Amino acid sequence: MTSAAMPPFACDRCGACCRSLALHALYQPLDRGDGVCRHFDDASGLCAVYAERPLQCRIDAAYDAGLVGGLTRSEYHAATRAACDALRARTAPSPQQEGETGRVPGAT
Ligand code: SF4
Repeated sequence: MTSAAMPPFACDRCGACCRSLALHALYQPLDRGDGVCRHFDDASGLCAVYAERPLQCRIDAAYDAGLVGGLTRSEYHAATRAACDALRARTAPSPQQEGETGRVPGAT
């Protein structure tokens, strides 16, 4: 698939980025002190303020606001997908954790 044919980026609300704020300076103001966003609901694995989430958490709005430089929108979406995959792999629960909860933390 060419980059021109790539579908728009769609967040699946896995919560991996919300639990990895230490990896990017843009998200430091949201860090509750352990690398997890202060708006992340540990119980549900979802953003507690999703409808009003900050600009840096809105893919296309962040792009439109110029927070991302040097990439086309399609390149930005592709880079975001790649980052999501890497974060998911990094934050995946151990088989023991998955067995304890019966679900993947952050997954909807
Ligand atoms: S504001 Fe919401 S979407 Fe943004 S990092 Fe925090 S929990 Fe995630």
